[in-house]
Amino acid sequence: MLRLFRIDAPRKRDVIQLDIAHAGGSYKVALKRVAGARRFTLRVRSATRDVVLTMPVRSSLISAREFVERHAAWIGARLNRLPLPVPFESGAVVPLRGVNHVIHHRPDLRGNVWIETGCAVSLEAENALCVACDTPHLSRRVADYLRREARRDLENAVRRHTAAIGAEARRVTVRDTVSRWGSCSASGALSFSWRLILAPSYVLDYLAAHEVAHLVHLNHSPKFWALTKKLAPETDRAEAWLKAHGASLHRFGSVEAE
Ligand SMILES: [Zn+2]
Repeated sequence: MLRLFRIDAPRKRDVIQLDIAHAGGSYKVALKRVAGARRFTLRVRSATRDVVLTMPVRSSLISAREFVERHAAWIGARLNRLPLPVPFESGAVVPLRGVNHVIHHRPDLRGNVWIETGCAVSLEAENALCVACDTPHLSRRVADYLRREARRDLENAVRRHTAAIGAEARRVTVRDTVSRWGSCSASGALSFSWRLILAPSYVLDYLAAHEVAHLVHLNHSPKFWALTKKLAPETDRAEAWLKAHGASLHRFGSVEAE
C-alpha cells in the first residue's frame, strides 16, 4: 500500500510505445527504461487499462518487441479479464459514498444534478443521480458533480482533522490520480483523488487523516501511524477496503490520468 501514498510526486520519464497486433486485435505497450532494472517486466494496469514494459536501460527496442510478442497471449488474456469500464451515461450504476446510484437523465426538467433516494429506478440501485441537461453534456455534468462533492467532503474532513491536532494545510487539491489516493507536499499542500467520493465515507475520511498526519510526520514511521489511527480509528478497515476495491474505482467515468 505504501506506493499509493508516495509523498514525492512521481518522476515523469520518457515513454516509447509499441503497437502489438494479436488475435485480430491490437494494443499499445508503453516501454519504460528504468535504471537498475535487470530484466523485462510486464504489467497490465487495471486503472488505465494499459500495458507497461519495464526494461533495463541498455536493452534494445528489438529485444523489447520480441519479449512483448512472446507474451502477447498472456497480455490479451489479462486485458480481457479486466472489469469493463462504466462510462457516465444514463442507466449506468455509480457508487456515491459507497452507495449505488443509477444515473437518471432528466432532459425534461430544469436544474443541474440532484439525488433522489428510495425511488428504486433500477434493480441495482435504490437511489438516482438525476441529471438535467442535453445528452452531449451528461458525462461532463456527472464528473463535475462528483468532483465538487469530493472536494466538499475532503475539505470538511481535512478541516476537522487539522483542527484536532492544531495543524494547518496550505491547500487542498482534488485531481484524478492513478498511482496514489492522496499526497502531502513538504510545504503542506494536500492532494487527493476525486474517486474517493465513490468509496464508503470512512475511506475518504481515513485518506484525509493520513495526509493530515503527514503535516506532522513526513514519513510512514510508527509515530505517523499512531497519529493517523488516532484521527481515523477505522484506518485498518479503510486500508483493507482500498486493497480489495480501490482499483475498481478507476472503472468509472473517463480516466484523466495525471
Ligand atoms: Zn503516506
